[in-house]
Amino acid sequence: MSTRSCPLCGGTRLRPVGTVIAGTVSACRDCGIGWVGEQASFEDEVYDADFFGVFDDAAYLSARLALFDRHLEALDRLRPSRGRLLDVGAALGDFVARARADRWDAIGLEPSTYAAAAAATRGVQVLNDTLDSEALGAGSFDAVHLSHVLEHVPDPRSTLTRCHELLMPGGVLALEVPNELTNLFKRTRAVLHRSTEVDQLTPEHVWFFTPRSLSRVVQQAGFSVELLRTANVTPLASEVILGGVVKHLIDAMSRRTDTGEVVELYALRRD
Ligand SMILES: [Zn+2]
Repeated sequence: MSTRSCPLCGGTRLRPVGTVIAGTVSACRDCGIGWVGEQASFEDEVYDADFFGVFDDAAYLSARLALFDRHLEALDRLRPSRGRLLDVGAALGDFVARARADRWDAIGLEPSTYAAAAAATRGVQVLNDTLDSEALGAGSFDAVHLSHVLEHVPDPRSTLTRCHELLMPGGVLALEVPNELTNLFKRTRAVLHRSTEVDQLTPEHVWFFTPRSLSRVVQQAGFSVELLRTANVTPLASEVILGGVVKHLIDAMSRRTDTGEVVELYALRRD
């Protein structure tokens, strides 16, 4: 395992923060990123109807669609002229449909055979392929969007470098990832449980970003970060352990301190 030094900053001050399917998660005390030493690989059979079943949950879907609208608002600010948009890891095509309704010429890319077929039956254009596909023209996209993708891939930096190649100069990269290590709800729970580990790390994930470490890897891939913020997706409904007043306080505090449940980042291809 390559857990002796940090893959992002080379730091050697590491701490274990939990365990997921792929193994033990280490976090770097210097840059904040967390990772599993084992190499992750995409296994099509894992990403089936069960995995994508979360989209059948009406509350979850409505929270996701609200965040997608926030992404589109930010994209509108950075690229008001619109153009071609690629949604990487398009799942069932919800963001592609939303973006098309917002006047983007949008297509999706989805390695799961199950999800790409499901999107097609809903009339959404989603290619069943990966970022390596030669059908994607270099420099041909005005925007590339990845929502909850980077925490699953073997090497986020090479994924981002490929996105950089697909974007035209000045094109926009839009990212959303979970914020599992500095999320105020999770940290509060850990304190209540007197645990030094972050509880409930998502078992399928292999990378654990913080706002700061996400920003750093995006810059390493050649982008300039324009907007970085966190958000709570379903904080008040999803927590059972904390009382209502406490939840509202934490929700308000996390908005001020960039310690919300997910990180959103928008960046431009510099050259
Ligand atoms: Zn580091």
